Amino acid sequence: MKPHSHDLPPLDQRRRPLGSLRLSITDRCNLRCGYCMPGEDYQWLPARDILSFEEALRLTGLFADLGATRLRLTGGEPLLRKNADKLVAMLCAAGRFEEVAMTTNGLGLGRYAVALKEAGLDRLTISLDSLVPERVARLSGRDSLAQVLEGIDAAAAAGFTGTKLDTVVMAGENDDELADLLAFGAERDIEVRFIEYMDVPGALEWKPALVTTRAEMLASIGAAVGVRPEPFGERGSAPAGRYRLPSGARHGGRDLSGLVFGVIASTSSPFCAACDRSRVTADGMWYLCLYAKLGVNLLELIRSGVSDDELRARPAGGWSERADRGAELRLEEVDRQAFVGDGADPHLEMHTRGG
Ligand code: SAM
Ligand code: SF4
Ligand code: SF4
Repeated sequence: MKPHSHDLPPLDQRRRPLGSLRLSITDRCNLRCGYCMPGEDYQWLPARDILSFEEALRLTGLFADLGATRLRLTGGEPLLRKNADKLVAMLCAAGRFEEVAMTTNGLGLGRYAVALKEAGLDRLTISLDSLVPERVARLSGRDSLAQVLEGIDAAAAAGFTGTKLDTVVMAGENDDELADLLAFGAERDIEVRFIEYMDVPGALEWKPALVTTRAEMLASIGAAVGVRPEPFGERGSAPAGRYRLPSGARHGGRDLSGLVFGVIASTSSPFCAACDRSRVTADGMWYLCLYAKLGVNLLELIRSGVSDDELRARPAGGWSERADRGAELRLEEVDRQAFVGDGADPHLEMHTRGG
């Protein structure tokens, strides 16, 4: 049901609209990236609490009513959710969003790419931190590079365009590979986005010294390709600042002139002022910020038998009270150390909350 015409979508306390919803569809993952899921012991969300497909459909519709135009499915690893393609088909068929996208580690794309395309998924973002097999194995806890590369090819073969590759850049781990990753993306027509290592809950090993900042990334790319990247296009509410390599850019025998890439400077230069994101975990906890310690239990509400109007009132009210600016507050910390994530509440961890 649509909201009444006099009910304009709410703005939050900092006059930010609710523009996008990131829905985690499972907290399970087949990798163990150290910056996201440190260790092996997890308190997994109980199966009975996981949103059914019908509940997910109802909840996403509610956020569409409140103004969200983009839906991103994430996790954990979203392709570990049984019949993920069927869920995508249901969400796309409902037609409530201008775009339905998915962030995946790519391992399941060999199997699922065609089904996801047929289900109507608009776009994919695939996470990959290195092109060196041993590094991928160390960073993700599994020798997974070959399967991810197969997944990337399977996505292209299935007809996905506009695919993005997200790379978390860590000093001393993969910060010497940025130009290699750009050349890899250029070959496949995939836009690469470099993400600063964030001290999100779950990143227990995070230290300021491990962060490669946007300025350092741009300098390193410039040195490797022989010309300085230049800013490109408008930013809007998108977290990634975009850059273009001017003519003369070369790397590994390849002409990279005109290549566009993104940098998400969430640690050194947070974009909270324009943040229009809402996050819902696989068990229906709603978080207004990646760093929020408290969420709103929408699962309880949805299972209590309330009407759509009553259900909608909760997020509408929550969003209009939102003042969150977690990453900006982290930046103000004097002696900044890892945030939290000692396993006390599984909802705090990045793999539960969805990146
Ligand atoms: N499993 C899927 C994947 O890896 O693409 C989706 C969920 S994952 C939590 C979403 C994104 O969060 C990934 O691109 C991952 O690299 C990013 N991420 C996780 N921990 C991070 C951290 N500490 N700093 C920056 N990005 C992080
Ligand atoms: Fe890595 Fe994504 Fe799994 Fe986290 S959820 S461990 S980032 S693959
Ligand atoms: Fe948005 Fe919170 Fe991230 Fe800032 S820290 S950009 S408010 S999710």
